[in-house]
Amino acid sequence: MYSSISDETLMHIARTIGGDDGVEIIKVLRDVEDITVEDLSAKTGIQINMVRKLLYKFYNHSLVTSRRFRDKETGWFIFQWRLQPELIEAFITGMKQKILKKLQARLEYELQHEFYHCGSPTCPRVTFEDAMETVFRCPVCNEPLRPVDNSAAIRFLKQKIAEIEEELNG
Ligand SMILES: [Zn+2]
Repeated sequence: MYSSISDETLMHIARTIGGDDGVEIIKVLRDVEDITVEDLSAKTGIQINMVRKLLYKFYNHSLVTSRRFRDKETGWFIFQWRLQPELIEAFITGMKQKILKKLQARLEYELQHEFYHCGSPTCPRVTFEDAMETVFRCPVCNEPLRPVDNSAAIRFLKQKIAEIEEELNG
């Protein structure tokens, strides 16, 4: 049913949105077709109000959906919930696109700046513009600044970007 998303990814998303209780709820939803809030609460031991709150959180991210039907005996409406695997994939794609944008912005920044550093691991790297202002002295420890070779960082970013682009297009 959820062939293209790994369990690990699903649980990661569940934890990100709903914490430990979120994971418990998604674990149950993964293994059933449709389930009521009451049954979810009984199976997980999580309070009904909390189950409802978490379901709405997942619902807001389009990870779950609910459907309503009328109980034949009581005539009352019953809501049942289920996972939406296609939308979970859309969620993952959205996350990857966000990461890709961040990496691209970072790469752009690395390519457009020259960096300087004093060599002390606790001091920050500074841009050429900032180094000019302190006459090439470290703004933290005042030691002389030397140019930094950021080609390894650039290579790493380019590789990560290529990987994610391939995942998104593949
Ligand atoms: Zn320093």
